Amino acid sequence: MSMEVNGQRVLTSIQTLGKIGAIDGGGVCRLALTDADFEGRQKVIEWMKELGLEIRVDSIGNVVGRYLGCDPELPAIMMGSHIDTVRTGGLLDGNLGVLAGLEIVRCFVEADFRPERSIEVGFFTNEEGSRFSPDMMGSLVYMGKLALGDALAVRDADGISVAEELERLGLVGDAAVPGVLPHCFLELHIEQGPVLDKEGCAVGAVHSVQGISWQKLRIAGQSNHAGTTPMSMRRDAGLAAFRIASGVRELVTQLGGDMVGTVGHITLGPNLINVVPNHVEMTVDLRSPVSSQLQEAEVLFEALFRTICAEENVEVERERLVQLDPVEFDLELVERIEMAAKNRGLRCRRMVSGAGHDAQIFAEAVPAGMIFVPSIGGISHNVTESTADADVVAGCQLLLDIVLELASVSSASPDKK
Ligand SMILES: [Zn+2]
Repeated sequence: MSMEVNGQRVLTSIQTLGKIGAIDGGGVCRLALTDADFEGRQKVIEWMKELGLEIRVDSIGNVVGRYLGCDPELPAIMMGSHIDTVRTGGLLDGNLGVLAGLEIVRCFVEADFRPERSIEVGFFTNEEGSRFSPDMMGSLVYMGKLALGDALAVRDADGISVAEELERLGLVGDAAVPGVLPHCFLELHIEQGPVLDKEGCAVGAVHSVQGISWQKLRIAGQSNHAGTTPMSMRRDAGLAAFRIASGVRELVTQLGGDMVGTVGHITLGPNLINVVPNHVEMTVDLRSPVSSQLQEAEVLFEALFRTICAEENVEVERERLVQLDPVEFDLELVERIEMAAKNRGLRCRRMVSGAGHDAQIFAEAVPAGMIFVPSIGGISHNVTESTADADVVAGCQLLLDIVLELASVSSASPDKK
C-alpha cells in the first residue's frame, strides 16, 4: 500500500507554527514553559483536535494525540519530537518531527484509512534544556528515567520552577507518568550538522546518538586590587577557568575520534576591569558516541580541573547536570529507513547523531528510530537554520512509508524482541 504526503500542507504548517514566538531574522523563540511555548502548544493541540485525535496530557505537560487503530488494544506506533526551541531557534528543530506526524495522520484521515495499530503523535516538554536542566526532560519523565518530583522542582535562572510554570499555564494533565509504552517510536528531525548537506545525501538513517556529559564548576578565589596584588599572590578564579577551557580543547583533541567538548558558559564575578575575579561559574559539555571514550574524557577532565585549581590556589565545586550514555537505535528500523529511502530513490547514509533527541530516551525500552534530513550548511540553533523544501517533504514521505509498513500488524515485528 502506498500513500503520498501533501508537501505544501506540511510546509505551510511549519510556517504557521513558526509565526508563534517569531523573532528577527526568520527564527523563533519558544523557550520551554513560556507564554510563547504555551501558544505553540495550543496551536498543535488545535490541529490534533481537528484530526479527531484522542489527546492525553500528563503531569509534566507532555501531549500525545492518538489516532485509533482497528485494534485499540495493540500498542501504538508513536511519532514525536518537541516544539520548544532555544532562544535563537529555527523553524524546524523538533517542530518538523511533530508536524510530520500530524501530516501522516492527515493522510490517513483523508484516505479514511484505519491501520491495525493506533498511531500516536507526541510532543515532549523541555527537550532543549535551555531554560530548565536537564534537556529531554519530558521524555525522561515519560519513560520513567527521571522522577516527576525531581523534574517539577527544577528552577530556571530566575528561580521559577517547572511546577510553577506548568501550573500558571494550566498544562498539568492527568495522564499517568511513566506513560504508556508504544510499540515503537519514530522521530524525523533535521540533522543539525553538516554531514548530509556536504555529502549530498537526502536522508540519514541514524544508528546511534552520542553520549553526553554536562558538568558545572563553581570556582572560588579572592577578589583583590588588580594593581596592587602581585601575580604570585593571586587567587584568580577567572584565570583558572580560562586554563580549564583551553585544557578541554586539548583533552578532546587528544582523545580524537568523534569526541567533542565545549565550554559554552562562563560568568565571572565581580566582572570588573580592575578587580581579580573571585568567583566563576562555568559549564562543560563533553560528547562521544563511544561509552568508554566518554568515561575516559570525564576522568581526564576531573584531573584537569582539580590540578589547575590547586595550582591557582582556588576552591572548586563540581555539579553534574546531565549524564547520558551513548544510545544505539533499533537495527531493524535503521534498515527499514534505508530500504524506504532506496524505494523512493533517495540517497541515504547511516550516521551518528551529535545532538540529543527524545527518540533516544525511548530507545532502551522500545524499538526506536530516527530519520535525519539535511541542514543547509549544517546550521542549527540559529535563526537561519534551514532545510530545502524538497528534503523536508521527502523526510515526511519516508516517515509515512515506514509507518504504513509498521501499522499493519502482519508486517510489524519490532516488538517481538
Ligand atoms: Zn530538536
